Amino acid sequence: MTTLLEMKNITKRFGAVKAVDDISLRLEPGEVVSLCGENGSGKSTLMKVLCGLYPAGDYQGEILFSGEPLRPATIRDTERKGIVIIHQELALVRQLTVLENIFLGSEISRGGVVDDETMALRCQRLLQQVKLDISPHTRVGELGIGQQQLVEIARALNKQVRLLILDEPTSSLTEQETGVLLEIVKDLRDHGIACVYISHKLNEVKAISDTICVIRDGKHIATRPAEGLSEDDIITMMVGRELTALYPRE
Ligand code: ADP
Ligand code: MG
Repeated sequence: MTTLLEMKNITKRFGAVKAVDDISLRLEPGEVVSLCGENGSGKSTLMKVLCGLYPAGDYQGEILFSGEPLRPATIRDTERKGIVIIHQELALVRQLTVLENIFLGSEISRGGVVDDETMALRCQRLLQQVKLDISPHTRVGELGIGQQQLVEIARALNKQVRLLILDEPTSSLTEQETGVLLEIVKDLRDHGIACVYISHKLNEVKAISDTICVIRDGKHIATRPAEGLSEDDIITMMVGRELTALYPRE
């Protein structure tokens, strides 16, 4: 099985600040890796490099996707390869319908070869996959945050996603919505779709991850199988001190 993603020795600077400092990351198909680190540790920046959100060449290091060199230059290029990021700030157009958002900019809507009914059917199937019981013609502005998050995942599935990046997806979700989202990630994993999961909620991280990658101040600290790590272990690696030093215990 070809390794899905290899990011090797990635460094990304903003002026004098090294937001990402020589980090390497590796993912197999269907693997869920959680990126853990305190605020400002460089998690989002590392993923933005991968998604082509910085102008071409504006980072050091090497990326291989499915064994082939990738130099991410625009988000459109990386989406075409099946790398889709969902940011904490939702990116849907509120005035448009669910269907319009899902097919926005996709080949199928631009080519004009597919009729409305076929698109609606395809949209319904995607909505079923993310367990959303709504009409494709609902305006996105009428949906709750959790539902919008799921529409974004449906949009990613329509792009034949192979690597889904969720950057703090549950910060505005209810407990019930979070449960649905975690189930969907597990479902995708069972279909060979890999996921990079970023969250401060370590109970979610524990529930969902195969592997935990900890970064601190832009530097890689550890990559470990999730099994066998406690939430305290993860926090200790994130902050770089024994927890007991921070929170003395009896
Ligand atoms: P995290 O996602 O782990 O909270 P970020 O990747 O957003 O961290 O940020 C890592 C560091 O890079 C922080 O010090 C942040 O202030 C800095 N940073 C992020 N984006 C920019 C930017 N566009 N310009 C300047 N500094 C940035
Ligand atoms: Mg972030």
